[in-house]
Order: sequence, then C-alpha cells, then structure tokens
Amino acid sequence: MSLRKNNYYLLSLGCSKNTVDSESIGQVLAQNGMRGVENPNRAEVLIVNTCGFIDAAKQESINALRELVDGKRDGQMVIAAGCLSQRYGSNLVQEVPGLDGVIGTRRWMDIFDLVGRLRDRKHPEPLYHLPTDAKVVGLDERGVLRTSVQGSSAYIKIADGCRRPCAFCAIPKIKGTAVSRPMESIVREAVHLQEQGIKEILLIAQDSTDYGYDLGLKDGLAHLLDAIVDAAPGIPWIRVMYAYPGYVTPGLMETMAKHEQVLPYLDIPLQHGHRDTLLRMKRPAKIEWVYDTIGKLRTAMPELCVRTTFIVGYPGETDAEFEGLMQFVRDLQFDRVGAFKYSYEIGTPSAKLPNQVPDDVKQERYERLMELQQGISLAKNQLMVGKTIDVLVEGHGISEDEDGNDTGETLSLGRSYRDAPEIDGYVITEGELPVGEIVPVRVTGATTYDLIATADTRAPFVIQPGKAYGEGMISLDSISE
Ligand code: SF4
Repeated sequence: MSLRKNNYYLLSLGCSKNTVDSESIGQVLAQNGMRGVENPNRAEVLIVNTCGFIDAAKQESINALRELVDGKRDGQMVIAAGCLSQRYGSNLVQEVPGLDGVIGTRRWMDIFDLVGRLRDRKHPEPLYHLPTDAKVVGLDERGVLRTSVQGSSAYIKIADGCRRPCAFCAIPKIKGTAVSRPMESIVREAVHLQEQGIKEILLIAQDSTDYGYDLGLKDGLAHLLDAIVDAAPGIPWIRVMYAYPGYVTPGLMETMAKHEQVLPYLDIPLQHGHRDTLLRMKRPAKIEWVYDTIGKLRTAMPELCVRTTFIVGYPGETDAEFEGLMQFVRDLQFDRVGAFKYSYEIGTPSAKLPNQVPDDVKQERYERLMELQQGISLAKNQLMVGKTIDVLVEGHGISEDEDGNDTGETLSLGRSYRDAPEIDGYVITEGELPVGEIVPVRVTGATTYDLIATADTRAPFVIQPGKAYGEGMISLDSISE
C-alpha cells in the first residue's frame, strides 16, 4: 500500500476532552495541507493522542504507540501527543523505543511545527515539544473549533486544566490550573453547531462549574448557559457535564431550571459519601451540602437525572466508611452511578497514604456498590414506564428473540435527556425512527440501564400491575403518570 506524504493518521484515546483536542489537532494539520486517513499504512505522520490518567489508560496508550512503531516504514513518523506525553515527556521514549516525537497536551496547537522539525531532522533522535505554560488555553487556538461532533451531538470544551487539590488525581499536574476559554469563542461555536443542525451540545471541562473563575466571573457557567441559549435558540438540548461539589450554586440551579434547552441532567462526580474518606481525598466533605443541594435541584427540576461517580477502596477506607457510602447511595437514589476501584497513581498525594486497601476488598466493595445501584437504576427506569419522552435517535438495529435469532424487526436506538453519550443507557424503540432527529416515544418497559419504547404515543397505555415490562414486574406503587 503506497505511503502518501501529507497524510496523517490520528488515534484518539481517553476522555471526551481528549477527543476535542484530537479534532483540533486534525484541523491544525488540515490548515497546513495535510489529510486525515483511517489506515496508518497510508500515512506519513502517525499520531496517538494519549491518556495519562490511570494505569489502565496509560497502558492502552503505550500499547497503541508500540504497535505503530513496530509497523513503522521508511518515511513514516510516530508522534505521542496528549496527557501521557505531558506527564512523562522524554521518559515515554524508554517505554516506546523508536518513537519520533513527543508533544504535550498543553501545546497541541504546535503539532505541525513538530512535524516540520521531524521532517527536517538530520538524526534519528526523537524530538520533544513539552512547554508547561497552561495559560494558552483559549488564547492560541489557531482559529480551530474546540468541538467534537458525534452524529447529531457535539462536545464543546469550555475550559482546560483544574485547580482542585484531589489527592488521587494527576490531572492538575498534567494540564495545569483551570483556564477558561473566552465566552465569545464558546458561543460562536454553539452558533456554528446550530447552523450544522446539531441537536445536542455537551459542555465539558475538568470542572465545568469553575468556568469563568479565572475570568473574574461569578457564576460563570450560569452566564455561559444564558449566553448560549440566547445566541443558539435552535439547539434543542444543552447538557452540563463534570460539575464539582460545592459549586452547584443557586444561580446555576435557577438557570438550569428556567431554560428548556438546558437538560434537567447533572453529572456531578462526588467520589465518596463518607466525610472521613472525602477529607483524605482532599474533596469537599460537607455531606449535608450534597443532601441539601440534590434536594433543591430536585425541587427546581422534579424530573432531574443525577449522574455521579464513586471511588471504592480508597486508602484507609474502613468497613464503616464503605457502609457510609452505601447508605449515602440508598438515601440519595442517584439515577446514574459510575464506580471505580481506587487506582494507585505515582506522584499523587494519595499514593503515599498508609492503609492501602487490598484488591480483593476493593473488588468486593465495587460489586456490592454496583449491585445496590443496579436495583436503584431499575426502579428509577420503571418509574418512566407509561411516560412519553423525547429521544434523540442515533441508529437502527434488528431485534433478536430470546434465542438470539434475528426477528427481522427493526429497532431504533436513541437517548433521552437522562442519557449522556457513551456513559449512560439507551432508549430502544420498535420501528425505524429518523436518525439524528428528536422524536417523542412512549416508554413501555424498563431494564436496569435502558428503556423500551414505542413510537405510538397516542395509544392509551395502561400499566397492569404484575405484568413484566422489560426486567422485573411492575408493582402497583411504582406506577406513575
Ligand atoms: S476536580 Fe477532577 S480533574 Fe480536578 S483534581 Fe479533582 S478529580 Fe482531578
């Protein structure tokens, strides 16, 4: 297969924020006459936008780089970009001998300069570009969009970096402190996406609730939402991801509640539910604040969907602390929960903590938490049975019978306001609905994570107690209209 000069291959790993960086890197290369290809064998420049957050992600990045280096041919160069590069710099070459270039996540916009230097180099030594200045965010974007379009949805990166002191997290070391992008840039991108017919935008950052702090704004995220709603009234759905406990202000609640475009969905990683564990995590430990705020949010938006994440097995986590977390989850009945076993991260304060929890205890606690949440998630989904909800249709499939045989019946796969892409559930609707459109469906069944629905919203829907609607029987008191 002939190798084409000016072709680049880019593999994007890690989180949605990295996906946005990858798309921006692609735009910078395109500005300089390069063309993206799917097949690395046809590319001159091979780039992996790496993730350096936790061990598993780091290993995935290293494996991807090694694979490209092993398959490298004359005239090709392999570049490591992203968080792993920023975190380990030249040490990365020891892990991946044969690497040609290493560029940090903070200066992704200099990618073509590095390609140029690699093309001109007179020796096989790798070249590095690892400036640590974080203050470039929003100021030196080379006129590219800081967005990532996925079907009819698009992520907009509103800030980068983080100023929080979470003891288990390496991101502030990798990305530097929190730097907000200018509001006018973000609003311009929202208007651009509206013109593209985008139906849902997701606002992302390491900590979206810190937006504008460094710009001297109070309640910056609320002001940003007002500005986007004002400028892009044609975007039906606006979703806020990555809120930080203690920073979901009355102003933000009010703004979310008053704008129909802003989905009643909040992703707020809490990480634990016991005060002592949170104190060792250097996370906000006012548990009563969480009860109070979730209560206020649910009053302001009764249909609110709350997503959160927890870490089990954090150093020093006692049985009592873990039971405290379990009770916290029972009390607050979150709609969506992501759980992680604590990952020992060299260079983070928690790595030095005593009483590291054994893996088997972590696993047992992880399973218990997930089991508890699965029951809650199913019960919450069952409350949706009989309701008519809007669904963003994302694709089609063919249903299977209980023996796994195709029934030939077309199903549509979509998401409701309760489902963020890639991390939450789906709404599975019989029939072929228009992909990319938001359509009303009637929920006819529930499973632990997904909903079953019909496009026929006019037909009266009577719930018969004791009849199975998806998983589990519907009891009388779970009927809601
Ligand atoms: S808020 Fe998130 S990104 Fe920032 S330090 Fe804490 S865990 Fe890391």
